[in-house]
Amino acid sequence: MLGDRENMERQEDSRLTSLRAMGAKIYSISRLNTMNQCPYQAYLNYVKKEPQKLGIWGQMGGKTHDALQACIDTHCDESIIQRAIQEELDDLEMIGVEFPLDKNGNSTIKNNYIANMMRFAKEFKTPKGNFETEQLIIYPIPERPNCYMQGYIDVLKHEDDGSVSIIDWKTSSQFSGEHLIESGRQLILYGLAKQAEGYKIKRLMWVMLKYCVTTWTLKNNKTKEKISEWRNLVKDLRSVLEKKLSDLGYDDFDIDMLMTEAQKNNSLDGLPEEIRKQFKTRIYVREYEFSQENINETLDYICRTIDKYETAGEDESNYPPCTIDKSKSFFCNSLCGYGYQKCKYYRDYCEQNFAEKEDNDDLF
Ligand code: SF4
Repeated sequence: MLGDRENMERQEDSRLTSLRAMGAKIYSISRLNTMNQCPYQAYLNYVKKEPQKLGIWGQMGGKTHDALQACIDTHCDESIIQRAIQEELDDLEMIGVEFPLDKNGNSTIKNNYIANMMRFAKEFKTPKGNFETEQLIIYPIPERPNCYMQGYIDVLKHEDDGSVSIIDWKTSSQFSGEHLIESGRQLILYGLAKQAEGYKIKRLMWVMLKYCVTTWTLKNNKTKEKISEWRNLVKDLRSVLEKKLSDLGYDDFDIDMLMTEAQKNNSLDGLPEEIRKQFKTRIYVREYEFSQENINETLDYICRTIDKYETAGEDESNYPPCTIDKSKSFFCNSLCGYGYQKCKYYRDYCEQNFAEKEDNDDLF
């Protein structure tokens, strides 16, 4: 999964070890999601405990998380984030771990990722307040005795009124529709766990690292905002900026020149001050509601998926692969930690498709 930290190698916390020793079953949202995405992947990972290959997204996300954590914990210079991203890119390139290519065989995915993350790193300022990072949560599932959910909260903010806000760094893309609910379960679980410890939950938030939000004021004094990937910050505002420049009396030639330069630098710095002062860009923070509806949905998902694991047991035949077709092939090849090397189903799929291609080649 993109930016997934739960599969990271970590020394197990003694509280989890003690629970296991007492026969408790311990799950994580990541483990549950794997069962629903591809049961065979769940089998390889959680039953057979087969090591997974290094994934570019997990590695890059992990390094960025570590650098952000260092900023919050030690108030070190934020420039460590850019350095951490660059060092990780260099290290991964050296050992041959690569970004997937786009459908035309180009490096757009890599270039876009780097452009977004480097700009985020440049803009990030360590927030002030009372924070804790990498907090383990262990939540007993009331409806499933002896089953626990575990996870790590990226950042816990202690608010002045004694409540807490929960913050999750996300290097993945924006969520929409069903994906929003799927991603929200992790935050809801963290909220439930902290609530069970006696805290009032103020806000659940993702900091969407690849994105920024720009706000500006309209003529009627209403505020408008635009969410963009960092790399498209100026491009996405172009028509608004052109209109503002035109209203200030700039002619088409000057507008084109100013905007071409602004877009090339992805910065408003070269635009007239009357324009610049109207726009404010910040890192995009997305909230998720700690509502009863979302809590019920999450608990229902947790119970349903735990039941799938409990029914499947350790028998490999109970863990079929996901449907592998052209659309899923990217997932198997680029996102799954097993892929061609360790998954017999995906290997068969590749070999079959490769063989068919060869057969066709023989026709001409
Ligand atoms: S390669 Fe595909 S089918 Fe095989 S375990 Fe991974 S996701 Fe499942």
